[in-house]
Amino acid sequence: MDEYREIVSDVLTTAGGAQAWIEMNLSGYLSKRCTGCGTDEDAVALAPALQWLEEHASACTARP
Ligand SMILES: [Zn+2]
Repeated sequence: MDEYREIVSDVLTTAGGAQAWIEMNLSGYLSKRCTGCGTDEDAVALAPALQWLEEHASACTARP
């Protein structure tokens, strides 16, 4: 069974046309996600994760 995850940010379109967002699982752990470069990393807190999201969306040119 897939782990339940909820998107907790806006879903941004990256410079490369992929999508990036921040999600949270049932345990409250945050993850940074990007469909362009395949990022799936743990995030410690929401505020820096959202900052990463903004910066990554404009910087990531990988195509999905
Ligand atoms: Zn990316």
